[in-house]
Amino acid sequence: MHAFRHLYVHIPFCRHKCGYCDFNAYAGMDRLMPDYVDALEQELVFARERYPFQQLETVYIGGGTPSLLPAAEVSRLLEFIRRNFNIAPDAEVTLEANPASTDETKIAAWLEGGVNRLSLGVQGFDQRALAVLERKTDAAQAVRAFSLAREMGMSNVSIDLIYAVPFQSLETWLETLRRAIALSPDHVSTYCLSFEEGTLLHRRRAEGKVPEVETDLQWDQLDAACAELEAAGFRRYEVSNWSHPGFESRHNAKYWADLPFVGFGMSAHSYRDGRRWWNIDTFGGYCRAIEERGPAAAVAGERVLSPRERAEEALFTGLRRREGVDVVAFQAVHGMDVLADYATGLAAPFAAGLLERCGSRLRLTDRGVLLSNEVFQAFV
Ligand code: SF4
Repeated sequence: MHAFRHLYVHIPFCRHKCGYCDFNAYAGMDRLMPDYVDALEQELVFARERYPFQQLETVYIGGGTPSLLPAAEVSRLLEFIRRNFNIAPDAEVTLEANPASTDETKIAAWLEGGVNRLSLGVQGFDQRALAVLERKTDAAQAVRAFSLAREMGMSNVSIDLIYAVPFQSLETWLETLRRAIALSPDHVSTYCLSFEEGTLLHRRRAEGKVPEVETDLQWDQLDAACAELEAAGFRRYEVSNWSHPGFESRHNAKYWADLPFVGFGMSAHSYRDGRRWWNIDTFGGYCRAIEERGPAAAVAGERVLSPRERAEEALFTGLRRREGVDVVAFQAVHGMDVLADYATGLAAPFAAGLLERCGSRLRLTDRGVLLSNEVFQAFV
């Protein structure tokens, strides 16, 4: 049985609901933030007593919008984690922030609490694309938040960007990439916009109020990201993630390497040795369960993966990495001959130039990155 070295805390609050977002994010509930941190503390103590932990290598405060938490609540949470768990001196401690809720007082509290990596949800510098996404931030706020974080000593800052947004041309995307690069971030995530059912954006597209984004334009935008980021010294190490050497996200790496992780808070997921479990995914349900029945009641369900499911998950996540999957090593660990077992399904992606062999490695091509969901169908 593996001990946990990676800890995730979910903060579900947001200033407002963005039009493309299908997460359970809660707006207008600021008054309940202290109660939520109380519930998190109970869960953290319960887990510390129930599970084996080693020195934590990564702590990730994600959301939602963790930067919405008042400085005092973040300080309380970080201090509580530090008091109850052994955090390695060189651990990666990340906090997700929205430029609109990033200020001097909060950055000081984050740094004081041990945060050493900021993931800034910029999403774009083009006001029209931001309006389509219904982001309530602008380019000036993004630049101000980034610069302030740097000036105050945040040594590792990542920027999130979204492409394939309706009305976003190749030129405006290029401008967004260049403005992001000009800030000198250490890490950049580029996400292809997806229209999730149930979101406002999905409905608007169905009503014909926003146009489809041509596949050719999506490819051109991805090509532009590859060219601009590589020219600026970034290396793509995963489908959506780029970094300067040594700044790859250590927290996300554990998802791709089948390592155990434990999550706290509403809708957080955990995984260890083939067992996956997840918390109640509504705010009221989560808080009520803990208040009335204790922290063990936060868990909504669990599932033990079969060896086959585990192998397939490792395969999917492995293929998301730039280096792909070493099929020889994979067979030694999972007992599955990927090329032989999926020969029929793999024929089409190979023929379409979406997959390639590189020595014993199987990996997505640049084109395959954009159509990764299509490639993964070959394994179903
Ligand atoms: S800030 Fe992020 S989590 Fe919150 S609604 Fe917008 S996209 Fe969703």
